[in-house]
Amino acid sequence: MDKQKFDVAIIGAGPGGYVAAIKAAQEGAKVCIIEKNFLGGTCLNVGCIPTKTLLAGAQVLENIKHAADFGITTGSVSFDFVKMKMRKDVVIEKIRKSLEGLLTSNSITLLRGHAEFLSRSELKIRGEENAVIYADKVIIATGSAPLDIPAFPCDHKRIFNSTSILELTQLPKTLAIIGGGYIGCEFATLYAELGVKVIILEALPTILATQGEVIADTLTRSFTKKGIGIQTGVFVEGIDQTEGGLSIRIKDKPPLACDAALVAVGRKIVSGNLGLEKAGLSISDKGAIAVNDKMETAVPGIYAIGDVTGKFLLAHVASHQGLIAASNALGKERKMHYNAVPAVIFTLPEVAAVGMTLEQAAEAGLDAVIGKFPFLALGKSIAAADIEGFAQIVVERKTGQILGAQVIGHEASTLIAEMCLAIAGELTIDCITDTIHAHPTLAEAWFEAALLANDTPLHFPPKTKRA
Ligand code: FAD
Ligand code: NAD
Repeated sequence: MDKQKFDVAIIGAGPGGYVAAIKAAQEGAKVCIIEKNFLGGTCLNVGCIPTKTLLAGAQVLENIKHAADFGITTGSVSFDFVKMKMRKDVVIEKIRKSLEGLLTSNSITLLRGHAEFLSRSELKIRGEENAVIYADKVIIATGSAPLDIPAFPCDHKRIFNSTSILELTQLPKTLAIIGGGYIGCEFATLYAELGVKVIILEALPTILATQGEVIADTLTRSFTKKGIGIQTGVFVEGIDQTEGGLSIRIKDKPPLACDAALVAVGRKIVSGNLGLEKAGLSISDKGAIAVNDKMETAVPGIYAIGDVTGKFLLAHVASHQGLIAASNALGKERKMHYNAVPAVIFTLPEVAAVGMTLEQAAEAGLDAVIGKFPFLALGKSIAAADIEGFAQIVVERKTGQILGAQVIGHEASTLIAEMCLAIAGELTIDCITDTIHAHPTLAEAWFEAALLANDTPLHFPPKTKRA
């Protein structure tokens, strides 16, 4: 049998792999993508999309709860959790289909099966498809999976990980969430909105520790108001099954009883069973494949992108790395830059950030100031009764250059885009204050925050009273 030959072969069809495949095809290459599971990877099937579909339902419920504030009478409100889950499955299926269409329309060969290297440029595929293929360039995009820790034995009946909890059809009365990071906070929002008594157990001094103190404090206050229990500085040592429930073992504290638990303590990199050694590649002790800023591995012609590189475990980073890797594989010279990577946490209220916090700017030896504008002073927020949170810009004092931005509140996920552009373009706050922002919109919060950094606010009192 003749070996199928490709210019570029991509292992894994998550947001890293399929974007790389489309880019390589656009550049005129003969491309194949190998996927052992569902198209779309973690993000589409058990990550970004299912969680945000369920959270969209929770947002509708939250809006209805506040209908009376707008003079709207609704009567009693209930929800059908099974139907919410079914909607999530339909959304995923719809996007999977359109993804398959995209691959076909770009003439990308989809090979369904598990891929492993036989040599630097040969891959063996086992599964629905059984073949050995040859590829001039290979891009590894095998992603990550929930971290299985023996102390937290997920039985997927009472003790869940982020994948199995998506299959729940009946809500528990109480849910303990181990880990107050991205996954813990998003699921806490979802289940609390659906009436589950949620408690977050986080080892670090705050939840969402990566987002800085101000964001963590604001979200903690908001969660607490919603009835979400938060214990920080507590290290969970294990989970025991009890009659009819669970007992969470916490270091130096009494155990905590609950009906169900979600283990959200991080992800493990998927780089095993890939035959990497046959290609001359090695991995770090965490399983990551090392890459340079061109997404090249130590072996010429082999690239790695997305979660498997262990850099940022975010879909949009995986996709961007995919664009860079595909271009470089086909003779271009492109580099990844990580200074303007947005982080968005889809809690209610949403959290979004890009660039440096004030603390990080100080650590980097920069003299920075902030302009912080609360949504309660913004016309659009008051009109929509969404006054929680703030938008904050971190600015270098001397040059006015925008170093970072943080926002917590309604539509933070969308608002952050303006600041990503500002940081990627190395803009100063004058660029924001010289830009006409439509009224009344939430984006005016950036305009006001930029003015505040100069202490020239329009819709907020100045830091010091004018003489
Ligand atoms: P993956 O999406 O993990 O895809 C890898 C693919 O490779 C998989 O389909 C796998 O089956 C396949 N594969 C692996 N090994 C082989 C092999 N040997 N042969 C063939 N195929 C193979 N990120 C965001 O940016 N925004 C969010 O809102 C967000 N929400 C999330 C919510 C949850 C609950 C989780 C768990 C993650 C979330 N993420 C989010 C993270 C995001 O899902 C990942 O960063 C992203 O999916 C990584 O993309 P990837 O292409 O590197 O890998
Ligand atoms: P994470 O690293 O964000 O958070 C894990 C948390 O668990 C940490 O705060 C850690 O201190 C805590 N922890 C670990 N062991 C503990 C223990 N024994 N007891 C108590 N606390 C403990 O990881 P995650 O929430 O699992 O998410 C994994 C990754 O997935 C994220 O880093 C993110 O990159 C990605 N993700 C992104 C989004 C998004 O972009 N909206 C959403 C979900 C996931």
